[in-house]
Amino acid sequence: MNILLASSEVFPFSKTGGLADMVAALAGALAKEGHEARVVTPLYRGIREKFPAMRKVDWFFHLPLGLKFVQAELWELDVARGLKIYFVDQASYFDRPGIYQEDNFSYADNAERYIFLSKCVVHLARYLAWRPDVVHVHDWQVALVPALLAQQKNEGWGNPPPTVLTIHNLAYQGVFVEQAFALTNLPESFFNTEGAEFFGLLNCLKAGIAYADIITTVSPRYAREITTEEYGCGLDGLLRRRQKDLAGILNGVDYNEWNTTKNPHLFKTYSVGRMAGKKVNKLELQKFFGLPVDAATPLFGTISRLAEQKGVDIQLGALAEMLNTKMQFVLLGSGSPEYERGYRDLVRQFPSKVAVRFGYDETLAHRIEAGCDFFLMPSRFEPCGLNQMYSLRYGTIPIVRATGGLDDSVIDWMQNPRLATGIKFSDYTSRSLAKAIRKALVLFNQPKLLQACRRNAMHADFSWEQTVHNYLSIYHKCTNITSS
Ligand code: ADP
Repeated sequence: MNILLASSEVFPFSKTGGLADMVAALAGALAKEGHEARVVTPLYRGIREKFPAMRKVDWFFHLPLGLKFVQAELWELDVARGLKIYFVDQASYFDRPGIYQEDNFSYADNAERYIFLSKCVVHLARYLAWRPDVVHVHDWQVALVPALLAQQKNEGWGNPPPTVLTIHNLAYQGVFVEQAFALTNLPESFFNTEGAEFFGLLNCLKAGIAYADIITTVSPRYAREITTEEYGCGLDGLLRRRQKDLAGILNGVDYNEWNTTKNPHLFKTYSVGRMAGKKVNKLELQKFFGLPVDAATPLFGTISRLAEQKGVDIQLGALAEMLNTKMQFVLLGSGSPEYERGYRDLVRQFPSKVAVRFGYDETLAHRIEAGCDFFLMPSRFEPCGLNQMYSLRYGTIPIVRATGGLDDSVIDWMQNPRLATGIKFSDYTSRSLAKAIRKALVLFNQPKLLQACRRNAMHADFSWEQTVHNYLSIYHKCTNITSS
């Protein structure tokens, strides 16, 4: 099949979160299966210098955006057999220091920037000599593509390709003032409660949910959750109406990046059969963080955006309660200054037990995954989550709240001791998390059980080779819908 993907970030060209990893891995896996994947994404600052092999395409965008016309150029990079990336080169929109924001403030023209990107995607879908069988868009930034394609059909393009929208996080919807709708140049008939309108505002993700042929999200449980009022972020009604076209597919893991056997970031490599290396990583990590170096003290870790979604508030509460016992905790995170303060306070309170680093650090992320005994991920909600799956492969027992992809990827010690890969808790409270940490301490003191749990965890397989087939059947399903 020919699949045209579109995303506002793609690893390794741009990344702010799991979206970039997922799109890159999916496109790569499709190409490996013998399909042809092409990805449209912005040419952000610095990409061209880092990837000098890219070529300028003989192509010129000159597209209406409200009352004006905006121009852009196009670059392409062949990444692998069957995988090409198209970069939309519009310097005034994309040649900036940040991707979506600067100094914690979103760019004021984000609607304009990403409506333009969406129009470029539609233009390529229509006019490239290479014809896509499916257009697969990701998140709100390109979620207007299905509506724009529907309008192209109204305007005489006989047979536009079917569309798939993947929601990576329903909490980010791309909501803008009503006037931003004019930038789409869509007829008013698209701006109503069944379409792009959301209480008088433009909601890009909602338009995608309304007009895409199929909607997917990144885990089966999250697909169910978002149809409820509690997790639906105001769109649960529409999602319920589209339930038969809504599917949840758990993200895969790129085990070429995230593994313990061939990994330059680790102090020492290790595997299920050679676990001595894990202990070396633990002792080195304790040393790095300036904590007492002691294999017998259970070490807990977290790597996270410091955002409300990630359960920071209950984690701070649970740690304050539990750190009086024999344990240590390390954190790598970046985000809200208020949460950073919370962790700093914890360090002040327990200086020989807690250590934190703020910022983004890929190497340290691998080292924490390898060096810790337990990984804490108490998210309020979690569409898929990657770190718990990395933890599994690193033999670091994840302690997760039973929500979204966390619930789908971890088997709880109490529910199934024989197959257990981690520890789950349900209530979103510090007390409930503290209880889960207590269970972890019990497990730590039972070496045989701990070993069995680690072995199960390290054998869990979330590779893309499996996941990609789920997407292929979605693509086939939607080509059947539109041709019948
Ligand atoms: P989300 O996309 O909601 O942030 P995921 O768990 O799906 O959460 O993916 C987060 C990705 O970002 C993972 O690859 C994780 O290791 C990485 N990450 C998050 N924070 C940091 C950080 N401070 N330093 C390095 N990597 C980080």
